[in-house]
Order: sequence, then structure tokens, then C-alpha cells
Amino acid sequence: AKKSPGKRWLFYDESLHPVEQSKLEMEKEMRYGLERGEFLLHFQPLYRLETETVAGAEALMRWNHPKQGLLPPNQFIPLAEESRFIIPLGKWLIREVCRQWRDWKEQGYEPISLAVNISVNQFIHPEFVRELEGALREFEMDPAYLELEITENIPFSDAHAIAVLAHINQLGVRMSIDDFGTGYSSLQYIQRLPVHTLKIDRAFVYDMMQNRNNRVLVETILVMANQLELDVIAEGVEEQDQLDFLKEKGCTFVQGYLIGKPISAEEFQLKWLG
Ligand code: C2E
Ligand code: CA
Ligand code: CA
Ligand code: CA
Repeated sequence: AKKSPGKRWLFYDESLHPVEQSKLEMEKEMRYGLERGEFLLHFQPLYRLETETVAGAEALMRWNHPKQGLLPPNQFIPLAEESRFIIPLGKWLIREVCRQWRDWKEQGYEPISLAVNISVNQFIHPEFVRELEGALREFEMDPAYLELEITENIPFSDAHAIAVLAHINQLGVRMSIDDFGTGYSSLQYIQRLPVHTLKIDRAFVYDMMQNRNNRVLVETILVMANQLELDVIAEGVEEQDQLDFLKEKGCTFVQGYLIGKPISAEEFQLKWLG
């Protein structure tokens, strides 16, 4: 007796919409996947224009799914956020990036900065700062080399969020505003927060040499950021003319396929370290 109509409520899962059902299934797969070590980080170089050197990397998460292969974050991060799996996953992320930093250090490479993406729910979770501190201590990572990429979705007017920002700043960990330009916060507002870097979203960079509006927007951000002594990273740089323009306008870093795509830790080490 699979579905006796009057008792549907007994079979909770079966009464769910197929989409909800598959979400539950995938959430379970993610939890197993984390236990089985299926998540990993890829690294994309951050190129400092002044010195023309790779000064750091952004860590970008991947899921090596047993059946579907290597999945990009847009195929699992949204569900992780919705289901709160982002909390254990984010905890793993922080430890993994600290572990990787120490591993490269122990191999004798010059230390580089590592940036990680922090979801709003991870950031405002009551254990977040404690876990961050714990990971830095456990792996003896110099906090000055860690950069947290947060978005304008963080409730910057909320007392708890402000306290977390202050605490992270006290630890000596750097913070950047990711996807800058896509949200609503003004530079004036950002300036009052303990934030060191703005990352201009790829949406403004990819066509800026053809699209005057986007070019003006990028230029305006650069002028103001320089005055406020904020570093700027331009995302999604694929063409040399974009890099030349950004350099001339005083942009600090570029990131994009022109310099290098995100690659595994092993490949990154071979290609960019040492
Ligand atoms: P994001 O933080 O804006 O990261 C930049 C994305 O742009 C990356 O995609 C990167 O591969 C891609 N990209 C970089 N340069 C270029 C370029 O020149 N051309 C093009 N077409 N694309 C470029 P990815 O790795 O698929 O990550 C997508 C998003 O997933 C990230 O956007 C970030 O919001 C999120 N994400 C990635 N890793 C994590 C993580 O560990 N935790 C959380 N919470 N979110 C993450
Ligand atoms: Ca990012
Ligand atoms: Ca982002
Ligand atoms: Ca972006």
C-alpha cells in the first residue's frame, strides 16, 4: 500500500514535491560527500599589477561527485546555503585553506595570500569567529595572509555582524567586499567598515572596453577606492586591453583567465609557486 490517500501525511517524503525530494537527496549526498572527502579547493591567481607578480590566490570550491564528476560551486553552494549544510561545509573550507597555506609553507615556498568566499549564513553563525581563530591556531597560519571575501548581503547595520567584523579585524585577518557594484552599499558606507579590498564584479569588467557605462563605472570605483586607500581587485579579466586599462587607472590586482584559470592545488603549486 504505497499511497492510501487519507494517510499521505504518514509518508512525509513521498508527499513532497519531486524538486524538494531531490533537494533532500542531494543534501544527504553532500553530507556523505563531506565525510568521504569529496570536496576540494581550486586556486586562481591574484596578479599584482605594480610588481607583475602573483601575490595570492582565491580558493574556489569544487565537489568531486562520485557519479557526476567535478561540480562547480553554482551546482551545490545555493542548496548548501538553503539547507544550512553551508555551516559544516564552511567550517571545512576555513580549515582546508589554513591547512593548504601551512602545507605550502612547510614545502618552503614564499607565503602567498589566500582568499576564501564566506556565505552570509556562515559569517553570522555564532561559532564562526571561534572556528576561524581555532583553524588559524591549529595550522599556525599568519592571519595577515588570509582574506575573507564577503558580499554586500551581510547585514552591515546589524550589531552582531558589526561585532564579527571588528573581531575578525582584531585577529589581523583581511576582508574584501566581493561582487562589488552588484549590491546597494555606497563606498562611503564601506569606508567605515574594517574592509581592505573591493572586488569589482566580472559583470562590469568583461565588456568594459566595449561598454562605456561599465568602463566609467569601473573607473569611478578605482578613483574613489584610491582616495579611500582601499585595494581593488578586478575580476574576470580575459583581455590584455582590459589589463592595460586597469593598470593605467591604478587598479591593485587583476584576476581572470588572462592570467590563469582556477586549478588544483598541485597544479597551482607547479605553475605559480617557487
Ligand atoms: P566569485 O567569488 O565571484 O568567483 C569568481 C568566479 O568567476 C569563479 O567561478 C571563477 O572561476 C570565475 N572566473 C574567474 N576569472 C574568470 C574569467 O576571466 N572569465 C570567466 N568567464 N570566469 C572567470 P566559480 O569557481 O565557478 O565560482 C562561482 C561562485 O561560487 C563564486 O563567485 C562564489 O560566489 C561561489 N563560491 C566558490 N567557492 C566558494 C566557497 O568556498 N564558499 C562559498 N560560500 N562560495 C563559493
Ligand atoms: Ca569571490
Ligand atoms: Ca561572489
Ligand atoms: Ca564575482
